[in-house]
Amino acid sequence: MELELLTRLHQAMHDDDVAAMVITPGADLQYIAGYDAKPLERLTALVIPHTGSPALIAPALEAGEARESTFARNGGEVITWSETEDPFLILADLVGDDVSGAIAVDDHMWAQRVLRLRQVLHERPQVLAGSILNDLRQKKTAREIELLQEAAAAIESVHRLVPTIVRSGITESEVAHHIGAAIIDAGHTGVDFVIVASGPNGANPHHSVSERVISIGDPIVIDIGGTMPSGYRSDCTRTYVVGEPAAEYSAAFEVLLNAQQSSVAFVSDERTCESVDAHARALMHDHHLDGRPLDEYFIHRIGHGIGLESHEEPYLVQGNTDVLQPGMAFSIEPGFYVPGRYGARIEDIVVCTEEGARNLNTLSRDLMRIPA
Ligand code: ZN
Ligand code: ZN
Ligand code: ZN
Repeated sequence: MELELLTRLHQAMHDDDVAAMVITPGADLQYIAGYDAKPLERLTALVIPHTGSPALIAPALEAGEARESTFARNGGEVITWSETEDPFLILADLVGDDVSGAIAVDDHMWAQRVLRLRQVLHERPQVLAGSILNDLRQKKTAREIELLQEAAAAIESVHRLVPTIVRSGITESEVAHHIGAAIIDAGHTGVDFVIVASGPNGANPHHSVSERVISIGDPIVIDIGGTMPSGYRSDCTRTYVVGEPAAEYSAAFEVLLNAQQSSVAFVSDERTCESVDAHARALMHDHHLDGRPLDEYFIHRIGHGIGLESHEEPYLVQGNTDVLQPGMAFSIEPGFYVPGRYGARIEDIVVCTEEGARNLNTLSRDLMRIPA
């Protein structure tokens, strides 16, 4: 752990009256300790006391990996426990009884651990570590932005292959199979999701894939993402069409494209999260599809933060009055979804800077035409 980060954590813990922070495997541990530990039944936990040095508790059989973490390589203490020891007693010992305050547990800690911790720490109040960590994690460093840029370039290279994969007569699942392989070939270590939503399936934003056969005239929403070796995630949506789309679809898509690009340009460190979402909706409102304003078909928030998780803070949604800050990285992904007929979505990853948005994507956002 870098000293600067530890200092900031200690300060935040002091301000929030937190006696110790306990972080089990997940994105928080990866962020703080550079340790991508597997979430196994044996306890691995980073304990950060309010004062003093943090320590990483790890099962003896995983000592090797724990000692390879950035935390350990920077001199952080690794405490291993053998098969017959109780790691929670080691943990309670590290926290100690002589300091007041709550225990901050990572937001995704398993319930059985949260409860066991409560027991060994004598019913001390527990709070979510996210209240401290999310503030730090959502403001990316220059290095993190570089890693997100690499992820964006990798997933764009997969989108560039889509026209060579999709054709009329192929099923969504066949397309997804090829895309999954291409995501790995592009340098990801894992595939997080592959959405291939053709024709009426496009009306479901969370459709994954099906055995539906793609045919001429179908719009296809393709939303894909993976994990890079750095742990940082990619996420990019483009909409394709085989042959010629219906005229009313093209017209609506042009409005969506304008709303997406205008919303990216609207991003600044003086705007709230919800205002970016509202901006896109206002632009879509004046266009009508089947007698209804286009924004009525835009049924999800405009964006989510991205980093070591595909979805993390900040969430750009109505009701979130937080102001955007330089370093925040998030998606701008408006769409429209017409039940029984089709859907469309355009998604870029952008970073808020003092000079507005920096778009990490360069690939065309136009409706991508695939020859019939
Ligand atoms: Zn203090
Ligand atoms: Zn997204
Ligand atoms: Zn996406």
